[in-house]
Amino acid sequence: MGADSLIDPEYLADTAANYTFAIEVLRQRLLKQRRMETTMNDTLAAGQPPLAVAQFDPATVDFPADISNSGGSAASGREAFVACPTKWVNHHLRKLERTVNIHLHAGGSFAKGMEVARRVFFKDGGTEEDARQAGMQALWDFYGDEYAEVWQGEAKSRDGMRGALSSYLTTGWPLASDYLEPFESEGKGVEFDFAIPLPINHPQTGEPILYKGRIDWLARNKQDGSVWVVDDKTTGSLGKQWHKQWDLDSQPTGYVWAARQFGFPVAGVILRGTSILKRGYGHEECLQPRTKYQIDDWHEQLVQDLHGMITTWTAFQEGRRVTKRLDKSACNAYGGCPYVQSCSSPNPEAWFTPPRDPLAKPLPVDMGGLLDDL
Ligand code: SF4
Repeated sequence: MGADSLIDPEYLADTAANYTFAIEVLRQRLLKQRRMETTMNDTLAAGQPPLAVAQFDPATVDFPADISNSGGSAASGREAFVACPTKWVNHHLRKLERTVNIHLHAGGSFAKGMEVARRVFFKDGGTEEDARQAGMQALWDFYGDEYAEVWQGEAKSRDGMRGALSSYLTTGWPLASDYLEPFESEGKGVEFDFAIPLPINHPQTGEPILYKGRIDWLARNKQDGSVWVVDDKTTGSLGKQWHKQWDLDSQPTGYVWAARQFGFPVAGVILRGTSILKRGYGHEECLQPRTKYQIDDWHEQLVQDLHGMITTWTAFQEGRRVTKRLDKSACNAYGGCPYVQSCSSPNPEAWFTPPRDPLAKPLPVDMGGLLDDL
């Protein structure tokens, strides 16, 4: 092929068409994502002006006072940091995540419903039906009308989640015939919060960093008397992989460590999974005992991770590069990292402002410099 072929009109036309096509595909993908994404928009709800990136000064960003054991890399500081330091910086330091993820929101509504159902049945002396109705109402309210509209038709829609809760309480583990009952001690049988000092000090205050979390249910096996933390999970599908993923996972280990700090003789965590699909629901239980070695090892790793977070925080404050994981497992987790566009862009700040209102009309597409190199 001679050099002339490079300026062959047909070749050029073909190349230009390819570029146009690629740009259009990207544009459509971004438009779709923006339509689908929803925004927590807490600053607007609080009547405050959106954070303007221009006003943003990394040197003023504080290191978090605590680290959370909550599920989901957005909620859990350690999990987010281990998954990707940039994600942790964006969410936990810059507090940029204004998108509400359907999986996390739906899971939160389910947890709220279960909390209320257990309270009505075990604490208030209500019937199973009272508990089911109260739980479904609490889930309904938590989910909210606005998000119900946004996610209408999804498997984890408000109706879908209400059906899942009802299925859990009637088919999965009906409250009256459950082999578990609340382990009543200091009123901590159903839903309790913890905040436990860790042996590492906050880089600014000098106070111990706190390990925080919430236990769904501290339960006793009626048959053998063993004590367990029960954690309810909602998921797309159950099966072998769902069970296996918990074997070394830090969240159950953290629960066991926290419960033992209160002196509760906890053997491990029982994960109760409910799969939510358009064609129906499934329920499976996964027992995750933890040995003393596993707990000590996890604790040592947690402290090491915290040192890593402090190092990352220092780098961020000083304007040095923060590691981007750039890996499919991290970038695609929980339905897709909310920072995919900013991480793809030579001008990430363009993606950070203004905060997007989920319930508002789609914004005009700002490509954030994404296509500048094409
Ligand atoms: S898109 Fe990937 S690299 Fe960027 S913050 Fe998310 S996980 Fe990290």
